[in-house]
Amino acid sequence: MAANVLIDVEVLYYLSRDELPLHRYLHTYIGGSLVGLLSGLLMWAVILIIVRLMPASSRWKTRLEQTQNIRLLNQSLLAGLIGGVSHVFLDSLMHDDMHPFWPFVTGNSLTGMISVPALHIGLGLLGLFSMILWLLLREP
Ligand SMILES: [Zn+2]
Repeated sequence: MAANVLIDVEVLYYLSRDELPLHRYLHTYIGGSLVGLLSGLLMWAVILIIVRLMPASSRWKTRLEQTQNIRLLNQSLLAGLIGGVSHVFLDSLMHDDMHPFWPFVTGNSLTGMISVPALHIGLGLLGLFSMILWLLLREP
């Protein structure tokens, strides 16, 4: 989530300045990956702070304290990387001002491959089914 928000700060910045194109360096696989890793690092630090602030009786605190720090870091970095790369991929299906493979290739041949309403409905359904699956498979 953090990676997605941070990447779209680029769009907000250029929107506020009324400058096109809106999707630039952070909306490339290199930029999205770097922001994703940075987000993972940031969220790892946030988790470590939150764990210290949690009440001792918290089930989450117990669980997080039993997990090795390096494992938490790796999971945070992987989650950030997945968020950053998937953001670039999904945006590249919608926005023709992107150059996802910059600096190696310019242009975006994925735009229009799927209609925006179909993409939104598909992502909404994927989110819904993912939540149902998570609810069914989570540990008590
Ligand atoms: Zn975006």
